[in-house]
Amino acid sequence: MYQKFQADQVFTGTQLLDGRPVLVVREDGSIEDIIAKEDAGEDIQQLNGLLSPGFVNAHCHLELSHLKNVIPPHTGLQEFVKQIVSLRKVEEHVIADAIEKAEDEMFQNGIVAVGDICNTLDTIEQKIKHRIAYYSFVELYDLDPTRAHDKIITGIDIQNKFQENCIRASLVPHAPYSVSFNLWKLLTEHFESHTITMHNQETKDENDFFETKTGSFLGMYERTKVSLDFFEPTGLTSVRSVLPYFKKAHRSILVHNSFTSVEDIQAVQKEMPNSFWCICANANQYIEQTMPPIELLRSQKANIVMGTDSYASNWSLDMLDEIKTIQQHLPQIPLDELLGWATFNGAQALQMDKGIGSFEKGKKPGIVLIEGLSNENKVTESTSSRRIV
Ligand SMILES: [Zn+2]
Repeated sequence: MYQKFQADQVFTGTQLLDGRPVLVVREDGSIEDIIAKEDAGEDIQQLNGLLSPGFVNAHCHLELSHLKNVIPPHTGLQEFVKQIVSLRKVEEHVIADAIEKAEDEMFQNGIVAVGDICNTLDTIEQKIKHRIAYYSFVELYDLDPTRAHDKIITGIDIQNKFQENCIRASLVPHAPYSVSFNLWKLLTEHFESHTITMHNQETKDENDFFETKTGSFLGMYERTKVSLDFFEPTGLTSVRSVLPYFKKAHRSILVHNSFTSVEDIQAVQKEMPNSFWCICANANQYIEQTMPPIELLRSQKANIVMGTDSYASNWSLDMLDEIKTIQQHLPQIPLDELLGWATFNGAQALQMDKGIGSFEKGKKPGIVLIEGLSNENKVTESTSSRRIV
C-alpha cells in the first residue's frame, strides 16, 4: 500500500520541484518515488503548499526546556549565562514535563532529528521513546586542569547510558575558553568516528582571551580561582587556537559563530574535516538582538545548518520560525537554500543522511507540509509547518 501526496511544490532536500509532482510513500513512511500525476494512478491526496523532508534541528538543549519564558530576552550573553546557572536546578518532574512538551512541539512542527547538548541524563527517558532521532552531545567543561580526568570519566558514563539505549552520543567540549588544555587533550581521544560540536565565537572577548590574554574571560578565571599563569596567548582567534584538537572528529558543528571572520572560516574549512556552521538566529535575537554572520558564511561556501538552541533563549523550538527570522533580515536568500540547511545539511552533520534529510528512495525522512507561502515563495508571518508523515 502506498500513500500519494500532491502539493504545489516538493523540496527534495536539495532541489525545489514545481509543477505539482506526486510524492509516493510506502506504508512504513519510506519514500518510493516522485512522479508526474499522469503516472500516479488513483487515491492521490491533494494538498496546498510545499512538501519538505523532516527538519533537522542541529543545536538544542532539550534538558533546559523548563526555562521557557524564565530568562527575559535581551539580557546580553554574560547575564544570560549567569541566570542559566542559577535557574537550571528545579524539581525533577518539572524538568521531565517540560522535556516531554518540548519534544512534542518539535515532533508536531516537523523536526525529525536533533543534535542535543546534554550535561545530564535528564532527557534519556524521553529519548528512549525514539519518536525523534537524537545525537546526544555530552558536553564537558572545566577550567581547572587537575579535574580533567574526572570530567572524562563522568562524561563517558553518560555517553554509555545513551548508547546502551541506541541513542548516538559523543563527548564534546562546551567552548574553546571553558575547557582546559588537559581536558581538550583527553577529549580528543574520544572524537574518532563522531560528530563533535562546540559553541564557537559567541563574543568578541572569546577571541581576545586567546589572542592577547585580555577581556572579560580573565575575570571568569579569577572568580573560579583557577590560575592562568601557564596560559600563553596563542595570537590566534579562539577557534583557530583549538583547531588542531578536531583532527580526529568525523564531522564537526560550530555553533553561533557570531564573531567569526573570513580567515577563521577558511582555516576551519582547510583543517577541520567536514565542518558545519550552525546558526541559531532566534537565540541570537533573544539574547542580544543580533544576527549571525550568514552572508559571510555563504560567501565562503560554508556548510550551514540551523538550530533552535534551547527554551532558555528562544520563543519556540520551531525550524520554520528560524527560517522566518533569517528571511526577514536577509530576504535575498532563496527558500530552497534555507530548507537545504534545515534538512539535508543537518542530516549530514549528524551523520544521519543515510536515513533522513531528503526524499530519496528507501529513506524515511518524515514529511512536512509548509502552508501559507507568499506568491514570491517567501515565508511570511502566517506561514506554518506541520508533520504529515
Ligand atoms: Zn547552546
